[in-house]
Amino acid sequence: MTFTDTQEHIAQAIETTACQSNWRDWRWQMRHCIRDAETFQRLLGIRLDKEGLEAFTNTTRRFPMSITPYYLSLINVDELTTDPIFRQSFPSAQELEILSSDMSDPLHEDRDSPAPCVTHRYPDRVLLLVSNTCAMYCRHCTRKRRVGDRDSIPDRKAISQGIDYIRRTPQIRDVLLSGGDPFLLSDEYLDWILGELRSIDHVEVIRIGTRTPVVLPYRITNSLVAVLRKHHPLWINTHFNHPKELTASARQALAKLANAGIPLGNQSVLLAGVNDCPRIMRALVQKLVANRVRPYYLYQCDLSEGLSHFRTPVGKGIEILESLIGHTSGFCVPTYVIDAPGGGGKIPIMPNYLISWSTNKVVLRNYEGVITTYREPDSYEPTFCDRNCASCDLHLELDDADECKSLGVEKLLADSEATISLVPRGNERHQRRD
Ligand SMILES: *Cc1c(COP(=O)(O)O)cnc(C)c1O
Repeated sequence: MTFTDTQEHIAQAIETTACQSNWRDWRWQMRHCIRDAETFQRLLGIRLDKEGLEAFTNTTRRFPMSITPYYLSLINVDELTTDPIFRQSFPSAQELEILSSDMSDPLHEDRDSPAPCVTHRYPDRVLLLVSNTCAMYCRHCTRKRRVGDRDSIPDRKAISQGIDYIRRTPQIRDVLLSGGDPFLLSDEYLDWILGELRSIDHVEVIRIGTRTPVVLPYRITNSLVAVLRKHHPLWINTHFNHPKELTASARQALAKLANAGIPLGNQSVLLAGVNDCPRIMRALVQKLVANRVRPYYLYQCDLSEGLSHFRTPVGKGIEILESLIGHTSGFCVPTYVIDAPGGGGKIPIMPNYLISWSTNKVVLRNYEGVITTYREPDSYEPTFCDRNCASCDLHLELDDADECKSLGVEKLLADSEATISLVPRGNERHQRRD
């Protein structure tokens, strides 16, 4: 159990009578979130310059600030402007620099919403947005457009309508609770949502995306964990961006979740001036794995408004992957993705390892720069696939699931399909033929 001198100092500056048990009470933390510049300065014992204060006022009019006392306590005031905690939590004037390529809802989450609280983009899984509030407002939030609106928690009726959609849509086998942060809901409310989802036969997996282990680790209480473990199979993805965030308190929170049998993943965002460094990323992923968290995704920063100062070229992400793949344990390596603007979903990006190939050999290079070959089989008897699994001798015994139809490039590859090309709608050459 840790309570640093800085934390004790901040706690008492908030409330003279505050002690360690207040500090470790997540509701106390939430009641004392830092939302104005004056308190921010007072608690850290610093003075921002005039420009900094002006920027704060202008930026927070559009994108408000909220920082938990705990997350604030991780800021290194001696290197304020380059501190990764500060940069993720304190408003910058640059957030108001909106580029012409920026979009308010780049992922079209609002348009892909067939029912309240639901974003249904992929065939077999949906996002269920159950909370509209967060403990800390990440400056790089992709849903920044919503952070301004009145922290309203979607009501039970809206969530019920979302759940009804899931109930009547049998292809959904995976539900992701997101928000906002689902863990800002009470244990009882969360228990109700999880119970409703669990009562749906076709929902095989429930996932929760939460940043509380990073910004409010005290939220991971024994009673919360007792609720969660009733609803297995349950997976949790959290959002660490920098190794500094893996404090003793954060590690304890992760251990509680892992000990409850919950597989843990991490989604990082590649952020200029925060973690755009192969060595930081390597330290981060290795620390995560040491705490039983599997790095899941590394996101290229979205095109949401107000994030331009956080964006890096895609090459930076490739460079980071280049420094991880082969150099460290395979399960330390996240999948680097660009979430395609317009709702195209996550697209994985990788360095190239396939250099060339012939009819019976591929030429590859490894992480050390060694160029090597893989000899392919001289004869391979492919099993012709007409998508009729019952007549195939590969023994896929499908008990209930329908075989889904093929889509995209997969369709071009399928034996059973006559399609030989995918042509964008409105292709002029094709229009001339008609
Ligand atoms: C990220 C995301 C998912 C989940 O994608 P996975 O690749 O399965 O983690 C589902 N729906 C939406 C809208 C998403 O953005």
